[in-house]
Amino acid sequence: MPFEAKPAGLYLSIPFCKHKCSFCNFASDVFSNALLDRYIDRLCIEIRDARAKAHSRGAILPNHLDTIYFGGGTPSLLAPAHLNRIFATIRDGFELNPAAEITLEAAPDQLLPETLEVAQREGVNRISFGVQSFIDRESAAVGRTHTAASCHAEIVRLRASGIENISLDLIAGLPYQTQQSWAASLDQAIATATDHISIYLLEVDEDSRLGRESLAGGPRYHAPALPPEDDTADWYQAACTQLADVGIHQYEISNFARPGRQSRHNRKYWQRDPYLGVGLDAHSMLHCHDGTAIRWANPDAMSAYLPTGDLPILPTALKIDRIAQDQAFEESLFLGLRLNEGVDLNHLSTQFGEARLNQALSAVEDIAFAGLIARSGSRLSLTPSGRLASNEVFSRLLVA
Ligand code: SF4
Repeated sequence: MPFEAKPAGLYLSIPFCKHKCSFCNFASDVFSNALLDRYIDRLCIEIRDARAKAHSRGAILPNHLDTIYFGGGTPSLLAPAHLNRIFATIRDGFELNPAAEITLEAAPDQLLPETLEVAQREGVNRISFGVQSFIDRESAAVGRTHTAASCHAEIVRLRASGIENISLDLIAGLPYQTQQSWAASLDQAIATATDHISIYLLEVDEDSRLGRESLAGGPRYHAPALPPEDDTADWYQAACTQLADVGIHQYEISNFARPGRQSRHNRKYWQRDPYLGVGLDAHSMLHCHDGTAIRWANPDAMSAYLPTGDLPILPTALKIDRIAQDQAFEESLFLGLRLNEGVDLNHLSTQFGEARLNQALSAVEDIAFAGLIARSGSRLSLTPSGRLASNEVFSRLLVA
């Protein structure tokens, strides 16, 4: 489908949380309810003015939306009135496909019945639950307030309300996690009969309190109880096999689904389909009439996105990138390789030229020899080991 005819996805960043988890490296935080009201004002202005802003940047914002994703933070903290306003603004500015996939990220125990009811009335049909662990000690150690029992109860409640499309997030590498406790957590996730599971490896970096403490060798945030990274890599590999055995197949580095339940919204990111991101630290990627594309990121500090005083018309983008052909080729390769189906080399060659493709493929032999990438006919994809070392593969392809 030509890019002009493709519907867009809309991502809404709701960076409000009840507590800050110790491992969290997102722009989210614990803000006041008054700030949340003001934030929704700003968000609605941004949605209303998005077309004019995209146009001023030379980009095409499609009129049709077929996916919406409320990400966080904790979007389940939105009040019914917030959801009503946001959806009214979306419907004013866009045509929403009646079969759109509309996801709301939710923290277990933090989705009020009245919010769920209004969310469903507005079209929300998919809930992504941030469970992270079904082992209560592990959840508590990182500042989560839910328990395994409350997670199971939440899933039963959602199904009773008519939400069938439920995704669960798990993290491998939490403090106190062991091979046995990870396996028990995964077993419990499978026992819910959910159709979609995301598995993330805990990132130990200086952007979270736990990561900083661990890097500094300190005792706080249960940092000394973090399992070795090599162990978590093994658990991840074992999970890939176990999930496949029960029909939940890996389709992306961190994502697993039963047939027909892959996240349509997230696939847009990996396929370079157009998406608009609104809110704090939200990212957008839209195509332009001349065949190039443009990416931009909103400010990642609340004080910049939502300054005190009168709301400015729109936040100044943190960074605007025009994607020339060379960069578009690299993006198509690297984002496509995140998917298990990999990339179609014939398609890349038609789109970007054989010379460019051959140059990148010169590095593939070396990586294939290391067992990280495999070619089958015209498709190139990461092997299971390659998915674990994806950053290394991408950097080796880049220097080619
Ligand atoms: S709920 Fe999610 S976004 Fe909020 S602090 Fe925890 S990990 Fe971060």
